[in-house]
Amino acid sequence: MSETIAPVRIARYLGQDGEILEGVVLGEEDDFINISRYSNIQIQEVSGLDAMLRGGRRIGSARPLSEVQLVPFGLGRKIVLIGRNYGAHAKELGNEVPKEPLIFMKPTSALVGHGQAIELPRASKEVHHEAELAVVIGKRLRDAQADECAAAVAGVTCLNDVSARDIQRAEVQFTRAKSFDTFCPVGPWVRVGHDWRDLRVQCRVNGESRQDGRTRDQVFPVPTLLAFISACMTLEPGDIVSTGTPSGVGPFRAGDVVEIEVEGVGILRNPVRARE
Ligand code: ZN
Repeated sequence: MSETIAPVRIARYLGQDGEILEGVVLGEEDDFINISRYSNIQIQEVSGLDAMLRGGRRIGSARPLSEVQLVPFGLGRKIVLIGRNYGAHAKELGNEVPKEPLIFMKPTSALVGHGQAIELPRASKEVHHEAELAVVIGKRLRDAQADECAAAVAGVTCLNDVSARDIQRAEVQFTRAKSFDTFCPVGPWVRVGHDWRDLRVQCRVNGESRQDGRTRDQVFPVPTLLAFISACMTLEPGDIVSTGTPSGVGPFRAGDVVEIEVEGVGILRNPVRARE
């Protein structure tokens, strides 16, 4: 039995032989905004999705979320991020809002999924959370105009742009500060075709609110960012672009639990521990 569907949320997860599967995420809207209701969520394998994450067929039987290991989107792809894209955040770190988008990258070796630990490296004494809306690219973009870029977004997800702030301040390049293993939690899944223009973006540490902004306050909106990036590097299906963080960034410690919530997507939750 299989059924053609228009998926709303797509997750990636490990199959029994360690292969990466794609599944449709099944639940009520209330389940996705309350971690205590994540036990109601199920994942059912889906095949035949296109790069825009549309048009799949459900196969197999649904499994409880608790029985699968989610893996982040973006494995094997590019991860491009934007700095200082909310005025209040630029100001809190003593920076001006840039005249053009400020772009940098993280390696895919930094990716972790929902539930996996963020590890604090010995090299930093000040590791910060940055709650961000990230978009997943569904169509190739090279020297693209903004309207073409808007139509090429397959979906949106939550991303924590974990940053070693002391290293970031001390060095010209962002690369080392942003690229430690586990410094790029993404997930828990992708909301397909979700309007990104005015979404609440939050960070909580141990349940306490730390960041609470809205994407309508971004300096450069998503299509402008993608057009700017595509004038430099070709964006390919599966690439991830994270769109900057609102104000309220701050440190967290071993033993903490960090949650990133993007309205209409869900809650990305990661425990924190020291790197062995
Ligand atoms: Zn960031």
